[in-house]
Amino acid sequence: MRLHLIDTLPERFLEIEHQDIKELFDSPTLVRIEGEKNPPLFVSIMLHGNEYSGLLIMQEILRRYRSGEGFALPRSLWLFIGNVNAAKEGLRTLDGELDFNRAWPGTPHTDSPTVRLVEEVMGHITAKGLFAALDLHNNTGKNPHYGCISVVNEPNKYLASYFNHIAMVFKTPKGVSTMAFDDICPAMTLECSTPGNRPAIERAVELIDDLMHLDHFPHKPLPSHDLQLVENRATLTVAEGVSFGFEDEEGEFDLTITAGFDRHNFSELMAGEVFARTAVPRPFTVRSSDGEDITDSVLSITDGAVSLRTTLIPAMITLDKRIIRQDCLCYLMEDYRG
Ligand SMILES: [Zn+2]
Repeated sequence: MRLHLIDTLPERFLEIEHQDIKELFDSPTLVRIEGEKNPPLFVSIMLHGNEYSGLLIMQEILRRYRSGEGFALPRSLWLFIGNVNAAKEGLRTLDGELDFNRAWPGTPHTDSPTVRLVEEVMGHITAKGLFAALDLHNNTGKNPHYGCISVVNEPNKYLASYFNHIAMVFKTPKGVSTMAFDDICPAMTLECSTPGNRPAIERAVELIDDLMHLDHFPHKPLPSHDLQLVENRATLTVAEGVSFGFEDEEGEFDLTITAGFDRHNFSELMAGEVFARTAVPRPFTVRSSDGEDITDSVLSITDGAVSLRTTLIPAMITLDKRIIRQDCLCYLMEDYRG
């Protein structure tokens, strides 16, 4: 997999649909566009091929600053267009390849072509400093838009609060883009709700435009009521070899998850509230953020009824079975305590 490095964007980029992006860029592409101010802002889009809001957001930003043949940006920009092959197939990640958002410095998967590609990207973008790094994503379930930060400091809190009043603090999984910038510059993952969701796109465009103009991050600490920070306590995955489905679906499964489970996104799931039924003893695996199996301390199973032992906040719930298998059913959050 070769990195394609360019300093002019083809005109067609501003109009192209995500599934056609490979017609423009045959491989992952890093674009450098000079602007008035430096250091540059780094934005990555489509690290997950089917999460196309990032493309729409950057098209909108670039359209605002079109000038003659090129762009008159207030600040220089590095734009990384990630998994063009998965985008063509309408997939998050191709089968058998390393997820583009698990391949950044800190990843345990060191022997992978995607990791070498990302190392090349990091080499270019960090050579002369960065103003901030944003990684644009979508969710598959009913989530509001929100930011994810891996370090709680004033610039990151400012970034997060500008996007929404709730944000997530995360330390795992390792190899996520945003964590690679912990010691380099302010950084945030923008979860822009479902692909194409307008309110999320508009908010992200305003945030990026703001960063284009901003001279420096505010020195004044952010008032605490401006931002609710939650952190990941655990990841809830379906255990390997367990067949699963949803209550409103035909068929017999080892594990049946309540219909419309995604209504619990970013709201409390109370201790004792049954959210699944199981015919096997250990249908789920729950892992703490450092990877420890904490299934038995988090879940209670009584006569096949599955519930939480303590009240937690599910987030990033997906109902897409392929993604549940590849990734997880959801994260379980609690208020960030620092
Ligand atoms: Zn994503």
